Amino acid sequence: MVPVTTFAGRTVALFGLGGSGLATALALKAGGAHVIASDDNPAKMEEANAKGIETADLRNADWSKVSSFILSPGVPLTHPEPHWSAKLAKEAGVEIIGDIELFCRERARIAPNAPLVAITGTNGKSTTTALIAHILRESGRDVQMGGNIGTAILSLEPPADNRIHVIECSSFQIDLAPSLAPTIGVHLNLSPDHIDRHGTMELYAAIKERLVSKAGLAVIGVDDPMSRAIAEACEANGVNVARISVEPLSVKGVFADGETLVGVTEAGTAPVATLSGIGSLRGAHNAQNAAAAIAVALALNVSPEAIRSGLHTFPGLPHRMEEVGRIGSTLFINDSKATNADSTEKALKSFDDILWIAGGKAKEGGIEPLTRYFPKIRKAYLIGAAADEFAKTLGDAVPHVHSGTLDKAVAQAAADAQALGSAAVVLLSPACASYDQFPNYEVRGNHFRDLVRALPGIEAKGA
Ligand code: ADP
Repeated sequence: MVPVTTFAGRTVALFGLGGSGLATALALKAGGAHVIASDDNPAKMEEANAKGIETADLRNADWSKVSSFILSPGVPLTHPEPHWSAKLAKEAGVEIIGDIELFCRERARIAPNAPLVAITGTNGKSTTTALIAHILRESGRDVQMGGNIGTAILSLEPPADNRIHVIECSSFQIDLAPSLAPTIGVHLNLSPDHIDRHGTMELYAAIKERLVSKAGLAVIGVDDPMSRAIAEACEANGVNVARISVEPLSVKGVFADGETLVGVTEAGTAPVATLSGIGSLRGAHNAQNAAAAIAVALALNVSPEAIRSGLHTFPGLPHRMEEVGRIGSTLFINDSKATNADSTEKALKSFDDILWIAGGKAKEGGIEPLTRYFPKIRKAYLIGAAADEFAKTLGDAVPHVHSGTLDKAVAQAAADAQALGSAAVVLLSPACASYDQFPNYEVRGNHFRDLVRALPGIEAKGA
């Protein structure tokens, strides 16, 4: 835990007692603050109480005594409209911050030179964060990984000069962290997402820009126009920028030339690593993630040999084009995290001869944006509420069956794969939310993995 000592003796109010909220309350208390915590869910209040945290309805709190208000990143600060607790804090003139800000203040106090790598972007944050942490760890560094991935930042070990914190930051977390100034900031890409929570694309981009604009080194993906503009603005303001791209670069950075990652420095252009044969980093989107990780590792003086070895041993994250097993030349891939067409597109791009399991609770637009990948699909197995709609879009272009359930879809696809006799990929990439049949995408993906591992003749991966 990182005891937050910067608020010792002061009263801090907090709203949102999910995982990171509770961790924050405990860290503040451990550092000597007086914490008053709240949540709309009484069960969360009870849980916090049981852990020794004082809880109260903040509508009745004496805000004149509150020095700061800590808001959970899941609770609206501005859009679609501020949560009532944020309104109360604003009216009382109390600053509103989040757990990453508390960490930054603690770092400034106890170990200002402790290396902090912060990662953001619309897509690929978790993969890139995990990959950076993995490469650094494998090269022998003391690494703490968390934030928006896995462990809440204040539940990690405290900052120290020889310990690298690798932190995934959502835009909500950046919005609540005004003093975030990482040693290395990574911004991967920008596409419309969460606009409902940020108002406009410009505001969303401005929040992402904050993570890199105060970084010692800004690693910025330049494959979309708004991110390119962020790189230019940072450079114009004197920030040290390394660009990453899946197109050739002539300025400092790392780019992907197919599966080869190439570094560009003042000394020249030289290949650093290849992604060929690395099952956990298939596809151009992962080349962008790998380019970012390599740029960070090089900046932290990890040798190219250690980088190559880290890339090769990266296990990947579950549910993101995760290879779960093989039967002969048939590959089984769990991409349950793909809950919309955009994400599924990455998977369809990455494979050929696809036996595609899709469906669930459809998102707006369905699978219309995927029509150009239809020639890669040998057959589709449709499940859940979206089956009829998807069948209509597939039409005569792709043979398909109404499997109904995931169990049936896996059995049918495995049998068809065997009958095909050639290399095929059984791909669960639903392009849908899971809620009609599963509590969340993780349960859906775990179920797929279990079904595949129970198939006769399966060589399970990572079992
Ligand atoms: P995030 O943490 O930003 O949600 P993840 O690493 O969990 O990102 O990846 C989620 C999905 O986003 C992946 O399954 C893939 O479809 C897509 N994705 C991953 N990396 C990228 C990238 N660099 N660019 C575009 N899409 C990506």
